[in-house]
Amino acid sequence: MISVEKAQQLISENSEFLKNSRMELNKSLGFVLSKDILSPINMPPFRQSAMDGYALNLNESNTYVIIGEIKAGDGHQPILKKGEAVRIFTGAPVPNSANSLIMQESVIAKENTLSLQKSAKQNENIRLLGEQVKKDAVALKKGTLLTPAAIGYLTSLGIIEVEIYSKPSIAILVTGNELIEAGQNLPYGKIYESNGLMLNSALRSLGYQNVTNYKVADNYNSTVKLLDEIISKHDVVLVSGGISVGDYDFVGKALSELEVEQVFYKVKQKPGKPFFFGKKQNKLIFALPGNPAAALSCFYIYVYPTLKRISGDKDFELPRTIARSESNFIKKGDRAQFLKATLNSGTVKILEGQSSAMLHTFAYANALVYVPETASSFSTGEKVDVILLPIN
Ligand code: AMP
Ligand code: MG
Repeated sequence: MISVEKAQQLISENSEFLKNSRMELNKSLGFVLSKDILSPINMPPFRQSAMDGYALNLNESNTYVIIGEIKAGDGHQPILKKGEAVRIFTGAPVPNSANSLIMQESVIAKENTLSLQKSAKQNENIRLLGEQVKKDAVALKKGTLLTPAAIGYLTSLGIIEVEIYSKPSIAILVTGNELIEAGQNLPYGKIYESNGLMLNSALRSLGYQNVTNYKVADNYNSTVKLLDEIISKHDVVLVSGGISVGDYDFVGKALSELEVEQVFYKVKQKPGKPFFFGKKQNKLIFALPGNPAAALSCFYIYVYPTLKRISGDKDFELPRTIARSESNFIKKGDRAQFLKATLNSGTVKILEGQSSAMLHTFAYANALVYVPETASSFSTGEKVDVILLPIN
């Protein structure tokens, strides 16, 4: 059995970036740039008015002759002599012959005569050609996450396609004879299958759209056959259940039959001890415990950061903080523990109902308190390590 930190390290050492591909910018939200992007144009592409006001060819006096008007989108370029001005609006091109721009609140305009109420300074209120980015300069660096702002910025440069790291095609395989689809009658001895939709929802909410769900009974041959097919079709496979030591847990044996290389099995943690990570060529296989809260904890702690990392995101770790506990806690045993909790303005509350079979607590949680192997207890007011869950 290995530690949480060792498990995280082994996963990161054994998972590689996915290949690059070209993508239309309008589909690229949440992807990461795999190459620097050079700007195809100067931005702004012309000297641009930053105000509604008057463009001036400065002279010593505070009086100017208004010779015309330029509004946003206009393409003409009047030539201003010293002491001349044009009416101009935000976003309009500033003629090369204008060397200052004064906002309309600082002038009095009467017919064709403009009187400045304060003096104008050289080049003020003019956005310079290429001041945001120059043509052929790096507009955005490799490794940048394509957020709405990044997409807006690249669109402003006229870009319609980008080179990105691919995101994985992900399979979720749930195992268990006891599982019934919600909406059906529930016979004695059966339970509703919940891990499939839970993990699928987690993935989609985190920007992984390429997800397929599968289901198999506790049967060795069917498990081998389906896993074989799934591993060949997908980059990442999440298996739920069947990875413990019971007589009807066939996932471990099936993975070994399929020559999936075991990187580790069992982590010194609660919940989620029976957790397996392996690979076959560059395919990653995570076998999560069937207990729902254990499956979801392992997903957030191990799977999600890995998906981000192989998709090129440098900022892949879940955010952590230190907060004061609102309760006492005594840890039993020597495993590290992840406690479902709510973090609220600097204090954290450990929730009742920490069993790995229980999801109701998780439904309220926005954080996990991490209690390392070495800690045995903490008291109210003591500082604890908090992992923020990526939920909103
Ligand atoms: P296992 O890891 O297969 O031994 O399952 C551990 C526990 O989790 C058992 O009580 C299972 O019934 C339950 N379980 C396994 N898979 C699921 C699932 N997909 N949805 C809900 N509960 C599950
Ligand atoms: Mg099972």
